[in-house]
Amino acid sequence: MTARTHDTAALAALTMWVLAAPPSAITVSTALAAILANQLGGIAPDIDQPTAPLWRNLPVGRYLGKVFGTLVGGHRFFSHSLLGVAVFSAMALLFLEFMQPVMPHIDIGFVWIAFIIGMFSHLVMDTLTKEGVPWLLPIPIKFGLPPVRKWRITTGKSVEHFIVLPVLAAFTIWLCASHYTTLTNLIQHHVTP
Ligand SMILES: [Zn+2]
Repeated sequence: MTARTHDTAALAALTMWVLAAPPSAITVSTALAAILANQLGGIAPDIDQPTAPLWRNLPVGRYLGKVFGTLVGGHRFFSHSLLGVAVFSAMALLFLEFMQPVMPHIDIGFVWIAFIIGMFSHLVMDTLTKEGVPWLLPIPIKFGLPPVRKWRITTGKSVEHFIVLPVLAAFTIWLCASHYTTLTNLIQHHVTP
């Protein structure tokens, strides 16, 4: 799937999670940091290919991306597994803990969960594509839904652009609009010093 589809899916997953298990009130800065972390988590697994947004935006990014991709076993390998999610999430937590002193009003636990949800949604979406996902590495089997490969989606083709992405976007907008009050009530109106 493309980065845009993954980011939309990540936001949809985060919204569903927040509605299903509402956190206690969070600050505006926590909400913004959580959305950012969620979007990064949503595209993080594709860091294993040189065309990933991160590498495209670095000066010698393509080269670095190739090296990094080889290190993690190539595209749709380590970073597309539960093991990869665990390792990336542990790194994200270390980073958040390191940053906590400069952002005391941010609930890093919530931001961290938003990141994990983003990564997890990526794996779910890629499971719907022809290539499948090696969820259970080191067991090198790629899983896909539906089980028949030719019924699955081809990345970057019309089904993704004209059906999957618009449906996901419409679903997310509907979810936010229909639960608008619930969602805005989660935001703390007074930041405690
Ligand atoms: Zn992917």
